[in-house]
Amino acid sequence: MQSISPETIFRGNDAWEKALQQIVNFTKSPLILGRSVYTNDIKNKIFRDLKNQNLSVNLANLQFDCCYEDISKVKNIILNNNHDAVIAAGGGKVLDSGKYIAEILNIPCITVPLSASTCAGWTALSNIYTKKGQFIKDVALRSCPKVLVFDHKFIQTAPSRTLASGIADALAKWYESSITSSTIDDGLVQQAIQISRVLRDQLLIDGGKAFKDQVKNNSSWRNTIEACGLTAGLVGGIGGEKCRTAAAHAIHNAITQIITPNKFLHGEIVGVGLLLQLRLEEIKNNNKLADQSIKQLLVLMKQLDLPTTISELGINVFENKNLEKIADFTCRDKSEIHFLPFEISKRDIIEVISNFEQQKIKI
Ligand SMILES: [Zn+2]
Repeated sequence: MQSISPETIFRGNDAWEKALQQIVNFTKSPLILGRSVYTNDIKNKIFRDLKNQNLSVNLANLQFDCCYEDISKVKNIILNNNHDAVIAAGGGKVLDSGKYIAEILNIPCITVPLSASTCAGWTALSNIYTKKGQFIKDVALRSCPKVLVFDHKFIQTAPSRTLASGIADALAKWYESSITSSTIDDGLVQQAIQISRVLRDQLLIDGGKAFKDQVKNNSSWRNTIEACGLTAGLVGGIGGEKCRTAAAHAIHNAITQIITPNKFLHGEIVGVGLLLQLRLEEIKNNNKLADQSIKQLLVLMKQLDLPTTISELGINVFENKNLEKIADFTCRDKSEIHFLPFEISKRDIIEVISNFEQQKIKI
């Protein structure tokens, strides 16, 4: 079974207003789920609009992350108040929690991404973390959300850092899926990989412009947010589990195991993982283009103010056995790193990361 996309997608400047007319047809008592105080204005607007439609509506916020503690708390709120739908309004962690909770309670989920930082508003997947933000596992869901509301007015209010993070995460689609799945004899998988190539090209062309332009809502910005929030999800939907993540996400998952005072966004960490994946491809798979790809990505990542080393993520890999911890988690049995078409050992990870952290990266 494969769930390719949300049942209905509303996109554009008045997506929320349009979606509202449909949402009232299948819920009488939704719970709005959010997290950040910075998005209170939007969540309050959603709350008011639903109230004005005579729905019995409630608002709850995640305390930590998409973690089992928050999931069970929100689940109880829904059960105690007889809510019949979840409206997840926020970033990837909020969207993932909303989808997961809706699935276990068998009620519809409406995703309202409030930034372009991930494609979690689209996908049938939830990543579960600990309270402290350490990756545990990803869970494949039965279906994509019932409704995805990709309202450009909402997304315009997000900090530009979230856009940069979304660009890095979406770029990873091509680099990861093409290396893990290019030999799979399945038309849909091959088509998904090609979509991810076009997605990468558009981000290389428009990403920098979209990030720099403060006016927003120009075509570069619109194309970029939709590439990150919609197309990246479509690639996962069409490609399914065969269109896999690889080293970039495996390294992301490992880096989240090290707890740091400053939290970094998913795509910010994936971007660093992507550079390391390309270095692994160069060394272990004799990929002669990998170095060119690294240079090309570094130009864009610098424009986007994205971190390009693990130390820029606030972690000194040469302290506290951090390097060993990252290598251990990256190479654990269930890791996506093993989807690479060549063998990777802990030694390889340690070598690549220590060289990468030590070198002065020049563009
Ligand atoms: Zn990702």
